[in-house]
Amino acid sequence: MPYSRAIAIFTDLDGTLLDHDTYSWDAARPALDRVKLLGIPLIAVSSKTLAELEHLNQTSQLFDGLIAENGGVIWLRGTMEQHGPSIETIDTARDQIKGAVNVPLGSFRTVSPEVIALETGLPLEDAIRAGQRHCSDPLIWQPSAKDVAKGREIAARWSLNLTKGGRFHTLCGPSNKGHAMKRMLERLMVLNRDDTSETPIKHFTTIALGDSPNDIPMLAEADFAVQIPQKHRSRTAPLLEHSNLQLAPHPGPEGWNAAVNAILDEITNTNKNSEVLHG
Ligand SMILES: [Mg+2]
Repeated sequence: MPYSRAIAIFTDLDGTLLDHDTYSWDAARPALDRVKLLGIPLIAVSSKTLAELEHLNQTSQLFDGLIAENGGVIWLRGTMEQHGPSIETIDTARDQIKGAVNVPLGSFRTVSPEVIALETGLPLEDAIRAGQRHCSDPLIWQPSAKDVAKGREIAARWSLNLTKGGRFHTLCGPSNKGHAMKRMLERLMVLNRDDTSETPIKHFTTIALGDSPNDIPMLAEADFAVQIPQKHRSRTAPLLEHSNLQLAPHPGPEGWNAAVNAILDEITNTNKNSEVLHG
């Protein structure tokens, strides 16, 4: 099967490229070095804020582009696009929910960084960045099922969702990692056209890696979908039906390394033991 020589990689962070417990990506270093050597754009796709991703990228220099807040924010070469709802809409909807439920309600937008640090276990500096939100807001509350239903009803009036992540209910727009991936590919295409006098790239072969339900829209868009097994689970059920879904052999960065190397062996004329490009 012929593949475009242009490849782009989209990756979730927590539990995928970063180890679930230590946040280290060391075990993925060989594949990351190979990706750099081949000039393949690597895009971080996360529920984290842009401030959190930019901070990570300042120290690691891993990523060519950033997709934050689950697809609501897209950053490439210093230019940010916001695809999620305005923060005014989020604030208005959250205040209405607060007025309608029977429990105290705070959120990352309204509490102090100290409280975010307490709720998440993040160091204070990281908690400050986690609070710098553009288009989504994790709620801090102890709701009953009735409160959640009320919250969802109010969110829907504003065309918002109230989605349950690992820990928090997050008030957010309908944008997702898959929509953002498509938009990022358009922007990469334009960049490539502006950057090079060679034949413009008309299609990227895409590899996406993720470990959780919020990664499904991104995995569904990819030519090669890699599901990274979760670290403390004994069995992994496929997240989605996909003609080219692969289950990585290990959790976290170790699995990332193995899966990316195997796919690059298949679709490029390079071998991970060789730095020479053929063809
Ligand atoms: Mg994850």
